[in-house]
Amino acid sequence: MESRGGPRVLVVGGGIAGLAAAQRLCGHPDIPHPRVLEATARAGGRIRSERSFGGVVEVGAHWIHGPSQGNPVFQLAAKYGLLGEKELSEENQQVEAGGHPGLPSASYASSGASVSLQLVAEMASLFYRLIDRTREFLHSTEPPVPSVGDFLKREIRHQAASWTGDEDAKKLKLAVLNAFFNLECCVSGTHSMDLVALAPFGEYSMLPGLDCTFPGGYQGLTNCMVASLPEDVMVFNKPVKTVHWKGAFQEAALPGETFPVLVECEDGSRFPAHHVIVTVPLGFLKEHLDTFFDPPLPTEKAEAIRKIGFGTNNKIFLEFEEPFWEPDCQIIQVVWEDSSPLEDAAPSLQDAWFKKLIGFLVLPGFESAHVLCGFIAGLESEFMETLSDEEVLRSLTQVLRRVTGNPRLPAPRSVLRSRWHSAPYTRGSYSYVAVGSTGDDLDLLAQPLPADGTHAQLQVLFAGEATHRTFYSTTHGALLSGWREADRLLGLWGLQVGQPRPRM
Ligand SMILES: Cc1cc2nc3c(=O)[nH]c(=O)nc-3n(C[C@H](O)[C@H](O)[C@H](O)COP(=O)(O)OP(=O)(O)OC[C@H]3O[C@@H](n4cnc5c(N)ncnc54)[C@H](O)[C@@H]3O)c2cc1C
Repeated sequence: MESRGGPRVLVVGGGIAGLAAAQRLCGHPDIPHPRVLEATARAGGRIRSERSFGGVVEVGAHWIHGPSQGNPVFQLAAKYGLLGEKELSEENQQVEAGGHPGLPSASYASSGASVSLQLVAEMASLFYRLIDRTREFLHSTEPPVPSVGDFLKREIRHQAASWTGDEDAKKLKLAVLNAFFNLECCVSGTHSMDLVALAPFGEYSMLPGLDCTFPGGYQGLTNCMVASLPEDVMVFNKPVKTVHWKGAFQEAALPGETFPVLVECEDGSRFPAHHVIVTVPLGFLKEHLDTFFDPPLPTEKAEAIRKIGFGTNNKIFLEFEEPFWEPDCQIIQVVWEDSSPLEDAAPSLQDAWFKKLIGFLVLPGFESAHVLCGFIAGLESEFMETLSDEEVLRSLTQVLRRVTGNPRLPAPRSVLRSRWHSAPYTRGSYSYVAVGSTGDDLDLLAQPLPADGTHAQLQVLFAGEATHRTFYSTTHGALLSGWREADRLLGLWGLQVGQPRPRM
């Protein structure tokens, strides 16, 4: 890698955070030659769209959450012409959904009966009222209970004491509530809401706008970002093994020049640099904490990485010859009548993993196929990843036959699913603030190194969704974190952000 003067900057990871940082740096002539080292053969990371079933499916990120002017992903997508008229409309941008998913259009119970949508709406209203109430504990140093799950259960127990009606009706209410707990696990990317810390939960911020999708696939966004970079910026199939810092590294081609950072790759290649922006997922960092940094990270930073939560949410797409749902159906909920959020059941993975599946979205936009997208979080989701496609298809066919009460329901034609926990360069889906951690840990993770000011500054910088205190787990949080770190570097070098200086 030849030097053309000016700081040499490397970015590790070509997801939206890494691409955002690279875009910002490449817009600046004084940063001569940034490179993005990406472990896999493609850019986008957890933004991943695949052509399948005669359309596009989102294996990773699905929606722009809060698509309105304050959302940089929305802005960028609009700039690249990737959104339709409806997504761009003022009306869409002004919707305040409060971050709550839409209500199901059909709710099937495990006995084969359908659940009254009025009952579902009542339980949804109770559940989301309680979710909204978690904000009461924002920044509270001594919340009454440690987790969101504990709080929800305490309040539900309280309310259930005054429910009238027979035992079966009460049991059904709890079973419907359990389905909302499972849904919230998907939203938070966690095994259980008992793992999600109560006090910081309300720090996650919602933007206005009705969540929308990319008609041509989310990955169109990261593809456009890559296309905007000079050709040799992206280096694919370059898994980084260790980031050496606080060093004095040299390069044969540049005798006399020393670099404080050396990025060593799995294939043995070594890249000296002044600065490296690390954007690898928190799941990868957790797994490789002991070997990824040399010298190791300061204790508090390593502790923050251990403490912040990072769980699994997966999607299972099922393709049907003919729909068994009504034409206007958008969301199908599945309710297991023997389940209750008030009973702690150890997960029975082998026999009952599918009970964690929350139901399905009916996907629009396929030519001749009819496609459902199921969501499943937690340990059951991770177990599902170990099964074969045939096993998943067989189990879900049985589930659908049971809940629709139709033992002859034709099996899906094919299945496609994500496996984010097994993905070696991700190891899960997204982060959450776990019991035992706070928003300060996300800020701590975002702090550059070294922290002491005695060495060359900003050797290792950190971006990625887990480093954004209020927008963690989202694409816009990741994008903003990439810009943040690029701007931090430009600031160090006294370069004006967003206004490339003309070359003299
Ligand atoms: C199933 C699912 C659904 C989601 N739904 C939504 C949604 O609807 N809306 C939303 O806003 N967000 C959603 N998200 C979250 C969103 O996808 C992420 O927050 C965002 O894409 C993260 O971007 P990132 O750049 O921080 O990380 P990533 O996209 O994970 O990028 C990190 C990159 O680093 C690379 N890498 C890892 N290790 C190394 C290494 N050692 N050397 C070199 N490269 C390495 C990886 O290959 C990857 O390309 C979803 C995520 C999942 C998994």
